[in-house]
Amino acid sequence: MGPTSQLVDRFGRVHRDLRISVTDRCNFRCTYCMPENGLEWLPRSEVLTFEEIERLARILVEAFGVDSIRITGGEPTLRSHLPRLVARLAALAVDGRPIDLAMTTNGVLLAGQAAALRTAGLRRINVSLDTLRRDRFIELTRRDALHDVVAGIDAAVAAGFESVKVNAVVMHGVNDDEVLDLATFGRERGVEMRFIEFMPLGADDGWERGRVVGRDEIVATIDERFPLVPVSRGVAPAERFRYVDGGGSGGLGGAHVGVIASVTEPFCASCDRVRLSAEGAMRNCLFALDEHDLRGPLRSGASDSELAALMAECVDGKWAGHAINQVHFIRPARSMSQLGG
Ligand code: SAM
Ligand code: SF4
Repeated sequence: MGPTSQLVDRFGRVHRDLRISVTDRCNFRCTYCMPENGLEWLPRSEVLTFEEIERLARILVEAFGVDSIRITGGEPTLRSHLPRLVARLAALAVDGRPIDLAMTTNGVLLAGQAAALRTAGLRRINVSLDTLRRDRFIELTRRDALHDVVAGIDAAVAAGFESVKVNAVVMHGVNDDEVLDLATFGRERGVEMRFIEFMPLGADDGWERGRVVGRDEIVATIDERFPLVPVSRGVAPAERFRYVDGGGSGGLGGAHVGVIASVTEPFCASCDRVRLSAEGAMRNCLFALDEHDLRGPLRSGASDSELAALMAECVDGKWAGHAINQVHFIRPARSMSQLGG
């Protein structure tokens, strides 16, 4: 049976992409995301079970035609038995077509999990890596784990995912001098590097506009050394480029590089994402100031159609776009680790 409806907001945007945070916990403390100490974890009883996650995802897929799901966190690989959840989600389909199932991870535990996740049906994986220098990695993540993350990327490549991408948040005065080194890393391994503009979401309140390295600067830096041609762009948040010299090709997308300009060129007008937090709250935007609790109704016996109505209401309340670039911008009280990046 095909979907009965679509998740359309007041601006006509159809929502087909779901991000599910499977845990609020993390084994890193990236300075731009979490405070060093003091962030309290959710009690186990408040975190959705695999059955609950699957039920909500199934409603979104079967009632609304959501056809793309990304598992995230916190750090998703910390959730016990993650391949079991992957297998349940991988079985979801829209009109007989399996959904596109992906995950974003810090990679530190990936070497031991990549093969099982792939076998369970995970199709694509993004690993976050902001620096290739050990001392800087320790400063940025507050953990000495660069070696393990690189091993995780190599294990993901070996596991045969449909795509392996590496995400780097670029910040002035922190790692802006590594754009070329990271691009070279992607070319050498045959994986696509994606540079992400620094967004005002960290729990440490360290965001300043001056620290954002914008899309133009990133592209110019790479283009000067490795000339780039733009790849025609759909509605995806990442603007993609191909290396003119064909470098990086033959792998899993390393012939390309992407930039996600959430701050300097927001893509809100074509945003098709909704998010489910680890405790079962649905959010229509990373920067939304409110959220819809689905866990309460779910646990007190709501039917699928009652839950679907709450989901539709959440999307209906979506605003036209975030206001990072405006004076009245209010930062959400939660960090990326709690929202599910
Ligand atoms: N722990 C996993 C990881 O690091 O990949 C998944 C969750 S993390 C919140 C998802 C992504 O959000 C990561 O690529 C991280 O770099 C990015 N992120 C976190 N805080 C950010 C910020 N303030 N601005 C831009 N990206 C951010
Ligand atoms: Fe953890 Fe990912 Fe946030 Fe780093 S960015 S602290 S790895 S959730």
